[in-house]
Amino acid sequence: MDVLELYRKTGALLEGHFLLRSGRHSPVFLQSAALLQHPLYAEAVGEAIARKFEDERIDFVIGPAIGGVVLSFVTARAAGARALFAEKTPEGGMTIRAGLEVNEGERFLAVEDVVTTGASLRRAIEAARARGAVPVGAAAIIDRSAGPVAFGVPFHALASVQVPSYEPEACPLCRAGVPLEEV
Ligand SMILES: [Zn+2]
Repeated sequence: MDVLELYRKTGALLEGHFLLRSGRHSPVFLQSAALLQHPLYAEAVGEAIARKFEDERIDFVIGPAIGGVVLSFVTARAAGARALFAEKTPEGGMTIRAGLEVNEGERFLAVEDVVTTGASLRRAIEAARARGAVPVGAAAIIDRSAGPVAFGVPFHALASVQVPSYEPEACPLCRAGVPLEEV
């Protein structure tokens, strides 16, 4: 599956001048929700991720809200597992909503649409580990990190893209006066 072609086709690959969640500026933004709004494409992506871990027993999939919710669901469906999500806490970590059961020793896969620094995927992994579950892998639709990202478990992305991002003070788009869009 050509994931980047899917992003292009669904308008999920935007070009301009964007303020990323990480605080950096970039000429490219990947709006995965534009792709995942199409259930058939979302399912295809979930199946492709699940295939990367088909030799693992997975009890549940978890993704950081909001971006990871749909991806968790479609991956879980393909893997025959439950679909959970982790939510931000006021303290800057992530937690699993009370009432969602996680059993000691359950094996899970953590997923996120796009990995830039990997911070939110790591927090989602920590949220599930805090409930006694064991991570078996991490996955993203797209890896746009500049270097290797470490999660302490095998990591697979369906595609890797090298798009530049800049600290605001070093951003050539700012210098050129291109309006900044918050995403
Ligand atoms: Zn800029």
